[in-house]
Amino acid sequence: MDQNTENKNTQTPSVQPGRDTAGPAKAGNGKSGGYRIIAILLTLFLFFGAVGTGLYYLNSKGYVDIPFLTTATRAKKYYKNNDSNANTKNLFSGARDVDAAEGKTEPSGTTQPDYGEIVDIDPDKNDPDSYVPDDFDPDDYDPDYDSDYDPEDVYPDNTTKHQTANINCDLSGKIIILDAGHGGRDTGCQFPFNNPQFWECNFTLHIAEVLKAKLEASGAKVYMTRSDDSWVSLYNRLAQTHLICMDIAEQQGKLPFSSEHAAELRQMLQNSIDINEDSVASGGMGLMVGSGAGPELQELMEMEKTLDNVLFLSVHLNSSESRTLHGTQIYYVTDESIIESENRQMRTNDEFKRSDFPKRDAYYGRKNENNSLLAECLYDNIVGDIPQFETNAHATIADNYAVLREHGLTCALIETAFLSDDDDRRMLQDENVIDQIAVSICNGVETYFAYAGN
Ligand SMILES: [Zn+2]
Repeated sequence: MDQNTENKNTQTPSVQPGRDTAGPAKAGNGKSGGYRIIAILLTLFLFFGAVGTGLYYLNSKGYVDIPFLTTATRAKKYYKNNDSNANTKNLFSGARDVDAAEGKTEPSGTTQPDYGEIVDIDPDKNDPDSYVPDDFDPDDYDPDYDSDYDPEDVYPDNTTKHQTANINCDLSGKIIILDAGHGGRDTGCQFPFNNPQFWECNFTLHIAEVLKAKLEASGAKVYMTRSDDSWVSLYNRLAQTHLICMDIAEQQGKLPFSSEHAAELRQMLQNSIDINEDSVASGGMGLMVGSGAGPELQELMEMEKTLDNVLFLSVHLNSSESRTLHGTQIYYVTDESIIESENRQMRTNDEFKRSDFPKRDAYYGRKNENNSLLAECLYDNIVGDIPQFETNAHATIADNYAVLREHGLTCALIETAFLSDDDDRRMLQDENVIDQIAVSICNGVETYFAYAGN
């Protein structure tokens, strides 16, 4: 506080200290009582005016935006309204064919084995990145924030740990499709809010770039769905993945389509990339629109299942509204987790109840066990190398993310750490930690292939 400010604060002599606590002034009792009534009336006027304005906004915008709401609350609403990618992430996952009310039955010969714990996640809150913590005040944001993170805090018993993080695994012959989450107008989670230094999309791209170098140094071939800070729609990423898989299948002599049909499929996928929108109306979802899987998508997924040595990894950061969670989480999909989620959405999500919502046949046959194994291998390696990333949330979670659901590759979504956790965030700012994360993921991939065979 500087001298001028201090002086101003003490120069309010017109109101004597203690006067307001001396009891209520009586109405009509002299000049000051008159002012008191005017002040009370003015206060009431302002209060009801504010409430009225708030109700007006409630009606016109669908939510309360009373002018004196905190900046944090407005920022949060702005973020929610503008995170289109996150909002569509689980929108079109649809219901499967097990709705008894419609008299439908599951395809004969299919089973739904128990894949372990499936976390029941509120569809509206299914993207952990889609909010800013309630108790976060942007006014607290310090533009000169400089982490006091000390590497010795991370590796207290071995300060040279990062130097041993040299890549030492053999991934020759393996192919990895790397998906750096978010990008461009989709920042992903932010903490602290409104500072590009702490936008998820920048961390994910950086981690993916470092990871790409490590994977390539291990002999793997790597494809990226996003390689700069541009917005790439969810279904653009998936269309790219299918096209890459068609190329791989062709190289491996496993492309099961006639050249005409292959050209047709490629064109449909290219359309999704060109449109680069996640909406039914624009056609940006292409052959991945609606619930279940249409015939073309099923063909592609069946083809992708035959590809050996190919994985899909999506890199994200996490955020917790309560700020109580920390560490690494790995999401994966199984037939069961997807069908359960889509049935739930069919009951609760108005989008799914629309008569024009495309409902396709259920798809059974994902690499359930492989996906679960990959998730465990990734988690174990990351946390084995970086014990501070052992999470107090669920370590591996079967869920229904479209980026994992809409193709047939073995796949996982890595929520690397919680940007909303102070310790995690500090660690994410350390290049040695980023380096270690990338190496640990490489080791996780190698461990997976050692167990899975291919
Ligand atoms: Zn994310």
